[in-house]
Amino acid sequence: MPAPVLIVGSMALDSVKTPAGEVKDTLGGAADYSGVAASFFAPVQLVGVVGDDFPPEHLEFLRSRGIDLAGVQTVAGGKTFRWAGYYDFDLNVAHTLDTQLNVFADFQPTLPDAYKQAKYVFLANIDPALQLQVLSQVEDPLLTVCDTMNFWIEGKRDALLEVLKRVDIAFMNDAEARQLTGQLSVIKAARALQALGPKTVIIKKGEHGALLFSGDTHFAAPSFPLEDITDPTGAGDSFAGGFIGYVAAQGDTSAATLKKAVVYGSVLASFNVEGFSLNRLRTLTQADIDSRYRAFQEIAHFEDISLI
Ligand code: AMP
Repeated sequence: MPAPVLIVGSMALDSVKTPAGEVKDTLGGAADYSGVAASFFAPVQLVGVVGDDFPPEHLEFLRSRGIDLAGVQTVAGGKTFRWAGYYDFDLNVAHTLDTQLNVFADFQPTLPDAYKQAKYVFLANIDPALQLQVLSQVEDPLLTVCDTMNFWIEGKRDALLEVLKRVDIAFMNDAEARQLTGQLSVIKAARALQALGPKTVIIKKGEHGALLFSGDTHFAAPSFPLEDITDPTGAGDSFAGGFIGYVAAQGDTSAATLKKAVVYGSVLASFNVEGFSLNRLRTLTQADIDSRYRAFQEIAHFEDISLI
């Protein structure tokens, strides 16, 4: 049995419009997307908060994926975090219309005892002050990973810099990495992020794949060329969840494992964007994941030039 992955992040009701359609108050949130993606590889312990307007069937769905909800609080009379946004034909850019922190504004995460021994920790997108509170309660983690977004880069920069000092791996999309570091080149932005703390930085470039910077080397993974993209929401979170879930399942953090984890992250993200909300992940099977991993190998394979 792989070691569990501890995840803290937003649990949300999202309203999203894309060129393919529109959904209102649907299941979303960084912790939900990344938790469900990670659950295909390893057990997940979730930390978060919802209001009593959060439909019980969403909690049931998370439980049905084997996700431990002992660290999820439900606030009586409280309202769940809500995010509203839209995408134009550039599906890499999410336009935020509204962010309501609601119950996250006063959330004080207290980890159940069983969570404090977590070896793999993913600080998914949420207030970096909450990410720090969770991190400080974990006793002896093996791998700590964080994600964030422009909302927190603008609003909670100092706390975010503190998080970056303390994690092993940081995920960011290319625009966020540029915004945080002030560097226009993605390569320089990634190096500047490494200088802030994390040994490894993973830059997500949406439908153009992801770059992994570790030490002074880097690795480029393409994204899977999909014919139909329905909703890019949660691509980054399902990528990160697939990544850390795979690493936990392997139980090692070698460079070779991290590279494969980037590809598994891309596989999970590529499925996620095929439907609104987490809908595609509801029917996803291990066989689907394995066959898309193999398809990835095909499209990214090069012969050694000396063999041609
Ligand atoms: P992404 O993987 O970047 O597409 O993340 C999408 C998810 O992020 C949505 O389901 C939102 O509920 C969530 N989200 C949006 N804004 C924030 C925020 N400021 N803090 C935490 N989560 C957010």
